[in-house]
Amino acid sequence: MNIHEYQAKQLLKKFGVRVPEGYLVEEGSQLDQRAQKAAEQLAIERKNKVWVVKAQIHAGGRGKAGGVKVCQDVTSVQAAAREIIGKTLVTPQTGAHGKVVHKVWIEEGSDIARELYLGIVIDRALSQVVMMASTEGGMEIEEVAAKHPEKIVKVTVDPTTGFQPFHARKLARALGLTADQTKEAIHFFGGVYRCFVESDCSLVEINPMIVTRDGKLMALDAKFNFDDNALFRHPELVTMRDLVEENAQDVEASKYELAYIALEGNIGCLVNGAGLAMSTMDIIKLHGGEPANFLDVGGGATKEKVAHAFKIILKDPQVKAILVNIFGGIMKCDVIAEGVIAAAKELALQVPLVVRLEGTNVEKGKEILAHSGLKIIAADGLTDAAKKVVAAAQH
Ligand code: GDP
Ligand code: MN
Repeated sequence: MNIHEYQAKQLLKKFGVRVPEGYLVEEGSQLDQRAQKAAEQLAIERKNKVWVVKAQIHAGGRGKAGGVKVCQDVTSVQAAAREIIGKTLVTPQTGAHGKVVHKVWIEEGSDIARELYLGIVIDRALSQVVMMASTEGGMEIEEVAAKHPEKIVKVTVDPTTGFQPFHARKLARALGLTADQTKEAIHFFGGVYRCFVESDCSLVEINPMIVTRDGKLMALDAKFNFDDNALFRHPELVTMRDLVEENAQDVEASKYELAYIALEGNIGCLVNGAGLAMSTMDIIKLHGGEPANFLDVGGGATKEKVAHAFKIILKDPQVKAILVNIFGGIMKCDVIAEGVIAAAKELALQVPLVVRLEGTNVEKGKEILAHSGLKIIAADGLTDAAKKVVAAAQH
């Protein structure tokens, strides 16, 4: 799960990490008045004379796409809010279609002396937390890694002993921070580390982390990814989820606890078990086809779950044929067959359907399919199934 920048900043603030203050302004009526109120409120509270209006979408690279505007007066804040809300931003992270902006974060402007980078990820091979910093803030870290790998410094933190001041000093030295700034960095990095661990993040990126002209460290932007498998421990984080930002099919799939990832191809796959799903995708590709999705309905799926999975696949207009490849272990083949038939009938299935069943109650499942009146191409074994579905998708 991802969250917006303004939510990320609120979260960081709870862990004592300095962030600019701001107000959220969403689309809707009286936008001008609401933007004005936010700007004036900030001017009173923060005594600032510069504002920054920032598009809130789940993607970075907004600055270069016109989604971040620095404003010198309230009228420009209003104009920027009007301009950015409703706009479609195309950045390297949004895909070619871009993302429509529904809200902006209006914050106090910061007096930037230096733009730095801070990132935290998990190194699974080391079983440690890795903190990365670079003097090249504002730039995408992938670009820095490719062109100037020597400008990225890393420290690995053992989660059992946690973040220590020496970790901060090593990063601070590499960033060229002064003695006073290093003292602050111990607090700042420590706060970001605790936020990362206690919120079960898989990634935190602060780009840029700035040094202000009066020598303070501040998170000017923040990107968070959370480990979905730990979200049940964080109901307060789940409320930050913004479904508008997520792929419609992904949202639908997560409602029914289906593991679904949309892909570029035209063969829809309905499979149980991640391993079988991956081998199904491999064998489709081996025979010259392209999967339209990864979909694991799980081990103990019900008839309803299978039907929902089927509907999600069919909502993708790219899909020209479907392969149902199920091994009935915990799950029974006749249950699968009933789910497939229910969904196919309800949705008036138009595309060819190839079914390969194996395992518990396989004979019963095949019989149900054979008597369903649906045009189903039965397959025996993985290779046969792959060849048949690739051929079917080409017509
Ligand atoms: P991103 O492009 O989506 O990563 O958005 P960022 O929040 O990182 O903003 C992009 C750039 O806008 C930053 O690298 C800064 O150079 C600039 N920027 C953002 N906020 C401020 C601010 O308060 N003052 C000034 N002067 N520049 C800002
Ligand atoms: Mn950024």
